[in-house]
Amino acid sequence: MMFIDPHIHMSSRTTDDYQMMRQAGIVAVIEPAFWFGQPRTSVGSYQDYFSSLVGWERFRAAQFGIKHYCTIGLNSKEANNEPLAEQVMELLPLYACKEGVVAIGEIGYDDMTPAEDKYFRLQLELAKELDMLVMIHTPHRDKKAGTSRSMDVCLEHGLKPSQVIVDHNNEETVQEVLERGFWAAFTIYPNTKMGNARMVEIVRQYGCDRIIVDSSADWGVSDPLAVPKTARLMLDRGIPEADVRAVCYENALLAYSQSGQMKESDWLNPSPIDQRQLFNGNSVLRGQKPVVETPAREYALIE
Ligand SMILES: [Zn+2]
Repeated sequence: MMFIDPHIHMSSRTTDDYQMMRQAGIVAVIEPAFWFGQPRTSVGSYQDYFSSLVGWERFRAAQFGIKHYCTIGLNSKEANNEPLAEQVMELLPLYACKEGVVAIGEIGYDDMTPAEDKYFRLQLELAKELDMLVMIHTPHRDKKAGTSRSMDVCLEHGLKPSQVIVDHNNEETVQEVLERGFWAAFTIYPNTKMGNARMVEIVRQYGCDRIIVDSSADWGVSDPLAVPKTARLMLDRGIPEADVRAVCYENALLAYSQSGQMKESDWLNPSPIDQRQLFNGNSVLRGQKPVVETPAREYALIE
C-alpha cells in the first residue's frame, strides 16, 4: 500500500527516517512551514527557512525516492512578534507561488491573541487572493473553541470548506469539522491521547470521508512512521482496506491536488534516484557509494 504523510517537518529529521519511510511505503510528504522550537529573531532566518523548504529539503527527499511538497505561512506563535510578522507577510507571496507549494499554512491560533487573529486573517486573505488552499493548525489548549473559531474565520473571509484542511483534530472536534464540510486531519503522536488506537475508533465511527492521518513529526517526540503504523493497526482491527487507503493516502491526494501542484503521476512515474546529483554543489552523501537507479526502460534494454 502507498502512503502520503501530509504533515511532517522533515527538516528536523534524519536521512535514516527518509529511508525507513520509503521502505514503509511513504511516497510523498507535505512539510508545513512552522517555528524553530525557539523564536526567530529576524526575517532573514524566515527567508532562509522558506528557501530550504522549496529547495534543499525537496532535493534531499528526492534523493531517497520521496516526493516533497510544502506549505508556506507565518505560524501562530511567531505572529505574536508583530515587527517580525509584518516583514514575514511581505515575504509570503514570493514563496507561496513557488513550485511544490500546496497551501498557505500551517496557520491559525496558538493562544488566540489579537495578534494571532490579525495575521491569521491577513493570511486567509492572501490565500483567497492567490486562490490557494489553507492548512489550519488548531490550538492544543482550548481546542474545541479554537477549532470552531478557526472555521468561522475561514468562512468569514470567503474560503470554501473544501479549500481548508483543519489539522490536529480529536474526538471533541471531528464531528463539527466534518459536518461543516472541512477536511479533518489527525496527528498521531506516540504515547499520547491521540494515539493510533483512538484513530482506528474514529474511522470506525465517522467513516473515511474527508478524514486524513498524519504524523506531524518534528524534532520533538514523534514518529515519522505514524501513518503506515496506523494503517497497519486499522487493517488488523478490521477496518476495510479501501477505507484505510482513503485516510492514509487518497484523501490527502484529493485535498492537496486541488492546488494543481501535487499529482499522483509525480510518484507513479518518478525520475530514478541518482545520488550522484548535487544541490548547489552539495550532496546528501558523506563519502558513501551513491545509489543510482536505472530507469525501467533502459534496464529492460540491458536485460
Ligand atoms: Zn506542524
